[in-house]
Amino acid sequence: MSTVKTSSSPSIAVLGGGPAGAATAIGLARMGYAVILFNTPRRFAAVEGVSDRVAQGLQQAGLEQALATLAPPSPRRVMWGGKESAVNTERLIYRPDFDAALLRDAASHGVEWRDAWVDGWKVEDSGRIAIDFQTTDEAAARLFVDFVVEARGRAAPLSANRVRGVETVSLLQYWHPTTPGEEKAHSAVQSFAAGWAWLAMGTDGRRYLQLTLDVATANLPEKARLGDFCREHLARLELAHAFTAGAEPEGELHARACTPILASGITDQHCIRVGDAAAAGDPLSGNGIFLALSSALQAPAVIHTLLQHPERGVLARDFHFQRLTGLFYRFARIGRDFYAKEDQWPNAPFWQTRRAWPDAEPLHRALTPESVHLARRPVLSHGEIIEAEVVVTPDNPLGIWLLDGIELAPALALVRAVKTAKAARQALAAYLGEPENEVPRNAERLLAWFEEQGWIDFGNAS
Ligand SMILES: Cc1cc2nc3c(=O)[nH]c(=O)nc-3n(C[C@H](O)[C@H](O)[C@H](O)COP(=O)(O)OP(=O)(O)OC[C@H]3O[C@@H](n4cnc5c(N)ncnc54)[C@H](O)[C@@H]3O)c2cc1C
Repeated sequence: MSTVKTSSSPSIAVLGGGPAGAATAIGLARMGYAVILFNTPRRFAAVEGVSDRVAQGLQQAGLEQALATLAPPSPRRVMWGGKESAVNTERLIYRPDFDAALLRDAASHGVEWRDAWVDGWKVEDSGRIAIDFQTTDEAAARLFVDFVVEARGRAAPLSANRVRGVETVSLLQYWHPTTPGEEKAHSAVQSFAAGWAWLAMGTDGRRYLQLTLDVATANLPEKARLGDFCREHLARLELAHAFTAGAEPEGELHARACTPILASGITDQHCIRVGDAAAAGDPLSGNGIFLALSSALQAPAVIHTLLQHPERGVLARDFHFQRLTGLFYRFARIGRDFYAKEDQWPNAPFWQTRRAWPDAEPLHRALTPESVHLARRPVLSHGEIIEAEVVVTPDNPLGIWLLDGIELAPALALVRAVKTAKAARQALAAYLGEPENEVPRNAERLLAWFEEQGWIDFGNAS
């Protein structure tokens, strides 16, 4: 991992302290950069659900205190396409606790953070960047830095020429039990003609009910009638009964915009976008935090390359953009295919539009040995972005560089240059430095792996 000397390190402002901002700030602090993070907590208490791979991402990012706020996996029932399944679990997150822990994690890694609202930033003639913000006592202040990480989530200023999916909104409300008592945490997803519901219950019996709807056609009533509107929808959902029985709505309803958005201009020489500020997906995929962490885990290497090796700036920007775009479309197509599985209301606008977005490209493309090729692409190596030869496949257009530390492209080139599996094993054994008088176990394993992937096919030519 590359590091910079603290005394001469450029200062970096991270705007927004959600998972993306906190993880990027920690990654930069670990590299030795002076990092200041600005955050104002969000105004409502959201609940979200994540899979276990988010737990791994949080660990990797150094967000241990945030990880400790995740509830253990709890069962999730799904009613989709008229069929019920209960094979899944998810871990519920109470965002106020999670978000507060993210900031404590950042502070424990040496990130200076301010409870402040960012009004905006601009590049001065000197090349330095002025951040304008307001502290909690509403005093206006300005601070100069060398680089900005835009991590204000969906509240980040919108970029021009962004990709925008179908306009979507979620209405969410807490319900509390009329007779409090300990409950088993669980959640449920159910589709209906005008959208889908996500329903969650914590061990304290509090329920968090969320309806996701099409902005253009939901015919939302005025604010005062929204509560009744949600109650009427919930009353028609079989899986909602377990969440509304013995409970009453509490507090205000909140509307959360959740249209998928991919920003353009994700990186330039002054700023990088991470998390939802760069690519915000449809909540159906339940992958928002995963996507936010993915972008944040790679961002420090991109920033480091931009600042310390400007000659590789374009490469670093391409790396961040291509990876984020790839993930955004992958999750968008997974969402599209999941929407398409709901076929009970083929003419309802909610379903019609979503099963056709973002495109008709298949999620997976057929792979043949001929479709696999070698190319030069940006890769992340020891905390910076370099160019390397990688193996490009139809499902992996960004290329695969290493497997257990072995560079795959030169190995595949050697295998392709020979006619038999025996000759390929010998070539790989020499490449991997295996002694001639021993069985080339690693070469055999790698050759078998190439065959499993479908990258080579010697047929009967052993
Ligand atoms: C309805 C809905 C349901 C969702 N459900 C799930 C789910 O179940 N699972 C999942 O993984 N993801 C879910 N997501 C997505 C998830 O919330 C986001 O992808 C994730 O939080 C993005 O992280 P982030 O760090 O980019 O932004 P955020 O988590 O939004 O963090 C941004 C931070 O910046 C702060 N901020 C904003 N503007 C300013 C400003 N001007 N000055 C200072 N601070 C500011 C905000 O208050 C916030 O603290 C859902 C999203 C929506 C809309």
